[in-house]
Amino acid sequence: MKNQGWLLKEIKRLELIETPYPSKNDDEVLLEVIYAGICGSDLHAYLGEHPFVKPGIVLGHEFVGKVIDKGEKVKNVNLGDYVVIEPSLTCGKCYNCTHGRYNICKNLDVIGCTKTNGGFQRYISIPSHKVYSINDIPLKRAVLTEPLAVAVHGVRRSSFKPGDEVLVIGSGPIGLLTTIFLYLSSPKKIVVVDPIENRLKLAKGLCPNIIPTKPDELTNSLFTQEGPDVTFECVGIDQTINMAIENARKGTDIILVGVPKEISLAKLIYIQDRELNLKGSLMYTRDDYLIAIDLLRKNQVDYERLISHIYPFEQVNKAFEDIINEKEKYLKVIIEMEK
Ligand SMILES: [Zn+2]
Ligand SMILES: [Zn+2]
Repeated sequence: MKNQGWLLKEIKRLELIETPYPSKNDDEVLLEVIYAGICGSDLHAYLGEHPFVKPGIVLGHEFVGKVIDKGEKVKNVNLGDYVVIEPSLTCGKCYNCTHGRYNICKNLDVIGCTKTNGGFQRYISIPSHKVYSINDIPLKRAVLTEPLAVAVHGVRRSSFKPGDEVLVIGSGPIGLLTTIFLYLSSPKKIVVVDPIENRLKLAKGLCPNIIPTKPDELTNSLFTQEGPDVTFECVGIDQTINMAIENARKGTDIILVGVPKEISLAKLIYIQDRELNLKGSLMYTRDDYLIAIDLLRKNQVDYERLISHIYPFEQVNKAFEDIINEKEKYLKVIIEMEK
């Protein structure tokens, strides 16, 4: 059997190549990929702007597929099952792996990001403990599991509790999913900031009680207590990181969900002076995945409004170029292997 994948050959160049048909060992499953989402970090890697994801890899870490073969020891899924994958490959031995935080494993490898080729490929083998059966969830909806788990993890990393007033900066897919998860978690108020009118409208459509706000309209008076109780930064550029730092109430949490540039001009003076807690949030663990899957199963995320475009596998390169050229038009873009 033949396999094909889109290799990030060099910056701004994706090439459709023949990739090895995956072998599987005793505790792996072999998947036929069905849908794969394009993530902001895939775009950063494509543009040469990602601090850790470099050319020489088949990208794609948000995907669902069908189990077409499995090793003898695999018990959690059956042949023909539809599954979503969790792309983190961890050592299981380091400090954080043995303390419930394998998302920050010392030896972390991420499928489609660091060493192992990802889901912009027809076939792939995955360790069985990294696949979750989703036979009862429409696949187009389930492909949002990974980015939703990022949002869930970000919120769970923070001090957020029901009744809080929160600030979410950025209404891209991760910002919107963070807003949705917060919305479902009984906040008192959510202020969402984005410069793009359509995105604010969409955020409001998805979560009617939020306060959509343009960057120049953001002020502390939108909150009852001198600013937000928690701030989520879901963009990762200096401008928005500083917006988070400058608007946070003294002594509160700021969660960095967006991936910053390697060198940042963030105003650290305020972190010290205002005792702000600047916390990173990376990926997710199994608990976050299970929460995300449960929300999707209950159809609590309006996936059809979040997925703006679907491209066939043959046009992965075009999809990347189109998104970059017309950012405002695109939201979550997914690849359909057999379109
Ligand atoms: Zn992603
Ligand atoms: Zn580890």
